[in-house]
Amino acid sequence: MLRDMMPRFDLYQPDSLDSALDLAERLGADGWLVGGGQDSWDWLKNRTRHTGAVIDLSGIAALKGVREADGGIEIGALTTLTEVENDPLVKERFGLLSTAAGRVASPQIRNAGTLGGNLCQDTRCWYYRGGVDCYRAGGNMCYADTPQGQNREHAIFGASRCVAVTPSDTANALTALDASMVIHSRSGERVVAAADFFVGPAVNIRRMTVIEPGEILTAVRVPGTWAGAGFYFEKIADRAAWDFALLSISAALKLEGDMVRDARLVCGAASCVPHRLTAVEKTLVGASRSDEVIAKAVSAATEGASTLQFNQYKLPLLENLVRRAIKGAGVAS
Ligand SMILES: Cc1cc2nc3c(=O)[nH]c(=O)nc-3n(C[C@H](O)[C@H](O)[C@H](O)COP(=O)(O)OP(=O)(O)OC[C@H]3O[C@@H](n4cnc5c(N)ncnc54)[C@H](O)[C@@H]3O)c2cc1C
Ligand code: SF4
Repeated sequence: MLRDMMPRFDLYQPDSLDSALDLAERLGADGWLVGGGQDSWDWLKNRTRHTGAVIDLSGIAALKGVREADGGIEIGALTTLTEVENDPLVKERFGLLSTAAGRVASPQIRNAGTLGGNLCQDTRCWYYRGGVDCYRAGGNMCYADTPQGQNREHAIFGASRCVAVTPSDTANALTALDASMVIHSRSGERVVAAADFFVGPAVNIRRMTVIEPGEILTAVRVPGTWAGAGFYFEKIADRAAWDFALLSISAALKLEGDMVRDARLVCGAASCVPHRLTAVEKTLVGASRSDEVIAKAVSAATEGASTLQFNQYKLPLLENLVRRAIKGAGVAS
């Protein structure tokens, strides 16, 4: 099988959102949207997925950049991860997102990869990426969830036939920041909260987000509510660079002295969607960060978890991440 050259497809390069929406509507499921191509090109070169047409969004200037909006910020979906990481507004108000974007892959991938592509990318389950006919690919079994299945990267929460996890580092940070996603189609605009944007296999096993054919993610809105809160981001991977998370934590705490006024803790690579640790948040809100409260919060982190043959290590790892996040949020490193 040829893996080193691109297969043939019709390439469309619209220079306005209007033209892109016309194309997206006309081509429907046959029009593959591309931001930076860092997820898409692998699928196409490996011949594991196919398309007759690509709509390259990278020439649409209106979908790039970070701007102030309603006390918060709006980030164009075609803004690169490097720009998200280094933007002064993001850095100053939402350091959590800047740090998460800076931990994606390698500098080269962050220079080309876009925020929209990072949020809409497909799962990395290696059976699925290898082209097997599993549930997610339309077949009738899960190869990872078998006694011999290689599943150390897979889910500890929210599985339903498929045990794959979300690979996106920015998705978790944006969920913790109560962001919302702006989606356009020829029928208009809809705005979806991050918590509802990502979908698990119980909702739809064939896709990772609510985006329908004909729709384009145009921007991400981050409200001002969490600006300047105490943040903590940590990602555990097999290698320090160029690797997907085995588990990550994105935390935002509003603090008055050591008292927690409000809290968001979201775990990545634990479920098919960003996994909000609501039981941990509940334990923290209104309490001080004492050893006793932290111990209670840590033991709440794994409530409802269910492990596979090779991913039990994620439970103590999650507890340690939660402990470090609570202690470290808002503490200058
Ligand atoms: C070696 C390697 C390591 C990586 N490591 C990480 C990592 O550590 N963390 C991480 O989070 N990711 C990682 N990635 C995944 C991914 O490539 C990058 O996250 C990148 O941000 C994807 O963005 P893109 O714009 O290049 O995506 P694209 O390939 O352009 O798009 C990805 C998907 O999103 C859809 N899409 C793109 N833009 C839009 C839009 N505006 N509206 C609707 N749909 C859209 C596309 O149709 C496609 O399905 C890695 C990838 C590689 C190859
Ligand atoms: S975990 Fe999901 S994507 Fe992976 S083999 Fe099972 S069904 Fe397919």
